[in-house]
Amino acid sequence: MQQTIQIRLKPEEAANSPYLVQTIAQSLGQDPANIKGYHILKQSIDARSRQQVWMNLTLLVFINEAPSQRFHEPIHFPTLSPNAKEVIIIGAGPAGLFAALECIQQGLRPIVLERGKDVRSRRRDLATLNKEGIVNPESNYCFGEGGAGTYSDGKLYTRSNKRGSIDKILRIFYQFGADESILYEAHPHIGTNKLPHIITAMREQIEAAGGKVLFQKKLTDFVLQDDTIKEIITEDGDRFKTEALILATGHSARDIFHLLFNKGIEIEAKPFALGVRVEHPQSIIDSIQYHCLQRDPNLPPASYSLVEQVSERGVFSFCMCPGGIIAPAATAPGEIVVNGWSPSKRNNPYANSGMVVQIDIPTAQNFLTKHIGQNKQDHNPLLHAITKSESTHPLMLLAFQQIVEQAAFKAGGGKQVAPAARLIDFCTNKISANLPDASYLPGLHAASMQDVLPNFVHQTLQEGFKAFGKKMKGYYTNDAIVVATESRTSSPVRIPRDAATFQHPQIKNLYPCAEGAGYAGGIVSAAMDGQKLAVAIAQKMGLVIKA
Ligand SMILES: Cc1cc2nc3c(=O)[nH]c(=O)nc-3n(C[C@H](O)[C@H](O)[C@H](O)COP(=O)(O)OP(=O)(O)OC[C@H]3O[C@@H](n4cnc5c(N)ncnc54)[C@H](O)[C@@H]3O)c2cc1C
Repeated sequence: MQQTIQIRLKPEEAANSPYLVQTIAQSLGQDPANIKGYHILKQSIDARSRQQVWMNLTLLVFINEAPSQRFHEPIHFPTLSPNAKEVIIIGAGPAGLFAALECIQQGLRPIVLERGKDVRSRRRDLATLNKEGIVNPESNYCFGEGGAGTYSDGKLYTRSNKRGSIDKILRIFYQFGADESILYEAHPHIGTNKLPHIITAMREQIEAAGGKVLFQKKLTDFVLQDDTIKEIITEDGDRFKTEALILATGHSARDIFHLLFNKGIEIEAKPFALGVRVEHPQSIIDSIQYHCLQRDPNLPPASYSLVEQVSERGVFSFCMCPGGIIAPAATAPGEIVVNGWSPSKRNNPYANSGMVVQIDIPTAQNFLTKHIGQNKQDHNPLLHAITKSESTHPLMLLAFQQIVEQAAFKAGGGKQVAPAARLIDFCTNKISANLPDASYLPGLHAASMQDVLPNFVHQTLQEGFKAFGKKMKGYYTNDAIVVATESRTSSPVRIPRDAATFQHPQIKNLYPCAEGAGYAGGIVSAAMDGQKLAVAIAQKMGLVIKA
């Protein structure tokens, strides 16, 4: 017999298997010997009470019955027939890889072209970036096999409520090597150390089924016939004919946005969020969230999620990484972009999070006009075109983002040394006299953040941090540092697509996909978007859709 139950335990009780079985037996009125096994269906932490942190568990219990495998059958990826139609996928990020796997399930042959390198070779470029501050514009934290998702925290939660699709994504990650806990934890994450193996296993599956994944193949042009993409051209001069092109190039492929713009293909400016990354000692966050001096070893490093309205502008935490590292995520020399990751155990002594402010179109327009007025020597024709444009220029927010990243580079210490300030200093307009130890490997330079961030961003963040200090006592402290800039939160450009066919409204065969096109934010939602487009293409090509 199988039965689903919910129980609430102290962390040390939940970690003690014999105790857990005893509790299960008790709550079902059974002898413990009858409990043959259980699957955890859901697990969450409830830290609302100041007296006791609880673990909430939903369990499927096997009574007098051998526990089943969690999944009887792995998800099947068939070998493609030699006549399978090809789909060209640009970008091997979560969107591109999950689109490729879905193509295989639907009987389509994916040909994935990725500008960066495979995960192993990419690791060497990241080491150079961290140690020497040298950015390889083709191989970095955003570009390369697995995309921005590979050397990330691998947090797998999403605001999407499409449970079936989310479960499929988690199950595929599990099938390719992620820990079973991602299937039931309320806030699952994989960790930077595990992601590369999982991504490699996915690529090997794509190749084994008859698909292709080609590295250092950068899309630089395409051939249009009337309103249809017929062929794409890579930097090395190769050409690929196509009847379906999934463009999954992520939010940092600025050259793709320029390519589309220069070809007269409709794209739109898209509001996004920008700010800083804040880093506390993990022990401070643990003691605030778990109401204790020291974290119970049975509890994971604590996280937080904060949001505040300051003068009608949203300021919020973004991509919080407990036990994590601040990473240099720039994609070109001369700019500073930070992001965060953590290993699967989240066992670094720091807790970092993006803290960002919503950037809308009118405010960005004002900022750029002022910027041009104050920097008359800046002869960038694009900037002039943007500020003179009568309608909203599609690349306006991209230009805004780039200017802030470049200001951070100037205010830093050269290479990838990032400008930083202690948190209270940041909020009181002081340059910090010194900086505490921090996780950011290329190094930090105490700087005036007023020289880096647009005024409205700086001031909104200052008020936001003060408000967060009231919500979390101990958060507003000079033991924390603020590092600029957290600027790649989502795409500053949208590539439009038809809601029914998912094709670009003006260009046939072009399927704008996931984060870079403005339809996803994060690993899971990007992966789901990739799958969705693969199914749409299969439908268009007259294939029978498989669930
Ligand atoms: C350090 C870091 C930590 C993160 N942590 C998390 C997290 O914990 N959880 C989460 O949900 N999200 C996280 N993110 C965000 C997440 O990685 C992205 O949301 C996700 O990867 C977007 O997927 P995508 O496939 O749309 O684009 P991307 O992952 O950006 O992939 C796009 C791919 O396209 C390739 N490409 C670009 N231009 C071309 C071209 N011209 N030709 C060929 N290939 C091209 C790029 O090299 C890249 O590999 C993190 C990001 C970073 C950088």
